Amino acid sequence: MTEMPIYEYRCESCAEKFEILTRFAERDSAQVCPACESTKTRVLVSSFAVAGSGETSSVSDFASETGGGGCCGGACGSCGSSPN
Ligand SMILES: [Zn+2]
Repeated sequence: MTEMPIYEYRCESCAEKFEILTRFAERDSAQVCPACESTKTRVLVSSFAVAGSGETSSVSDFASETGGGGCCGGACGSCGSSPN
């Protein structure tokens, strides 16, 4: 029996908050914002404290992670720049 906890995410593009029913292993994966379809989202509920203080490191870490082309695969309308 697999439990599917609900995690709350926030979209960095439009500040939309939404909940995703996902596995723990997928918790830190970028989810698609239901409002603007951006993948620049991050989980709010986590084991570490989310008080907004660690936002800078979190964002930069996320940026490097999506720098490989995960975000601009076509689903993200906010990314108009072409790769190279
Ligand atoms: Zn959004």
